[in-house]
Amino acid sequence: MGNDRKTDKAGAKIVPLVRRPCPVCGKPPAQEVKPFCSKRCADIDLGKWLNEDYRIPTNEVPDDFDPEADYPEE
Ligand SMILES: [Zn+2]
Repeated sequence: MGNDRKTDKAGAKIVPLVRRPCPVCGKPPAQEVKPFCSKRCADIDLGKWLNEDYRIPTNEVPDDFDPEADYPEE
């Protein structure tokens, strides 16, 4: 009792590689479209990348961020 935790004595987390949820909706992934749960979610994620709308939600600026170089010529 109380001795069946999923961590070892060093406190390291045991994370199964294939059990990460679908990054789009969080459901369990399907074998043929891993890591997504369905073709639909895979297409959604791909669409985000194609639209360059898949940004990490953070306000932090990368160390090599150069605001003057970030804007393309128009
Ligand atoms: Zn999904």
